Amino acid sequence: MEHALQVYNTLSGEKEKFEPINAPFVGMYVCGPTVYSFVHLGNCRTFISFDMIYRYLTHLGYKVRYVRNITDAGHLENDADEGEDKISKKARLEQVEPMEIVQKYSLDFHQVLDKFNNHPPSIEPTATGHIVEQIDMIQDILEKGLAYEVNGSVYFDVEAFNTKFNGEYGQLSGRKVDELMAGSRELDGQSEKRNPIDFALWKKASPEHIMRWSSPWGKGFPGWHLECSVMSSKYLGNRFDIHGGGMDLKFPHHECEIAQCKAHNEEDPVKYWMHTNMLTLNGARMSKSTGNTLLPEELFSGANDKLEKAYNPIVVRFFMMQAHYRSSLDFSSEALSASEKGFERLMDAVSLLDSVKPSETSSIDVAAWKKKCYAAMDDDFNTPILISHLFEAVKWINAVVAGQQTVSEADLTTLTETLNGFVFDVLGLKVIDTQTTSSDDELTGKLVEGMIEVRKEAKSKKDFAMADFIRDTLTGAGITLKDSKDGTTWEK
Ligand SMILES: [Zn+2]
Repeated sequence: MEHALQVYNTLSGEKEKFEPINAPFVGMYVCGPTVYSFVHLGNCRTFISFDMIYRYLTHLGYKVRYVRNITDAGHLENDADEGEDKISKKARLEQVEPMEIVQKYSLDFHQVLDKFNNHPPSIEPTATGHIVEQIDMIQDILEKGLAYEVNGSVYFDVEAFNTKFNGEYGQLSGRKVDELMAGSRELDGQSEKRNPIDFALWKKASPEHIMRWSSPWGKGFPGWHLECSVMSSKYLGNRFDIHGGGMDLKFPHHECEIAQCKAHNEEDPVKYWMHTNMLTLNGARMSKSTGNTLLPEELFSGANDKLEKAYNPIVVRFFMMQAHYRSSLDFSSEALSASEKGFERLMDAVSLLDSVKPSETSSIDVAAWKKKCYAAMDDDFNTPILISHLFEAVKWINAVVAGQQTVSEADLTTLTETLNGFVFDVLGLKVIDTQTTSSDDELTGKLVEGMIEVRKEAKSKKDFAMADFIRDTLTGAGITLKDSKDGTTWEK
């Protein structure tokens, strides 16, 4: 199989010819979500980008095994291996079992990605399902002298690793160990690590830590970075083709993954490292603490004051595809509305294809156009350039229908196959009714927002009977209100 596909490799900082280790097979691992809250829109962008990459590789004829994990244990609140486990903390706050938190947010994650028309990965392993394998890898790294045990915890010894492997730690993120040392804050001798840049492979569970497993070092839980090394090598081998994630995972997460794998197998685990860029909202970083945030469900229902209306998930997907995955992308209601118009124009032309009448000859160069479409995607999955070429076809289709251009039967077949292939198979769009689908959700959103206002008014007049009546009526319709000091939010 000969393709001109070029992939930007974070490791080299360059576009490289894509040559799978064992073509036509391709192994791709993408870091999945930590399931302790509703999936973030920025994360959705990462998973939609890798879905497009998965789709294009498949479209080219590669047999892709796509592994994306679910982090359901071990992800602590900060990168310094301190603080509470994110899932345990949420379970404590909501007074439920940690696995109920995992179930609730895994379901949400799958439902949202399904709405975006993402294919599920080939394998979706969980951290808690691979505790035995994680303990095995830790034991091996300990035996090789690249980790040490302190008080029931095991830490990776970055200095020992660097001595053995010529200072390779930091190769992906371009960070130097000396600078990391200078920048790391020593916790007044509180840390049990030999060196502040060492990271946890296994953490001893404190008495109140619920998620715990038996190990040779006592009861504890695995460090967050370890699961990805274990599950990627288990399902894709010691060396595989693509490892992806959001760019915020480059350091420390991916750097630690490389170190663990290399310590264990003496081999660099990944041929092409790929990272997606960030999503901003109205020009600023999305953040829960500043309130500059938007949930996918709010986007689909329009129930957020940053939106003029609701947007269909497929329109949002199209909007994301209009930016390159390595460029940052700003979300705003105006930009989405512009995308929606473009999406409708594209889909109208696609639906017109069936009624196009072929002529003896073509006045348009379909073969050259098809080549340009593939060239765009072969240039590190350049979807915005591809979409600009698709709009050239939209113009042609409209002109042929209006009798201003002609297309031969053979060219019409090529045009139809190529356009359908890119629109449906590669970009992952589908036919939707933007009028009705968005307005149903939008109507619900507007009605609920209106009732929340009336309830607020009732409460301010101390008419609590009315306030309760409104809440109960909404509960009866399957809508839950949540009051906090910042106001009232709702979910279906
Ligand atoms: Zn990972």
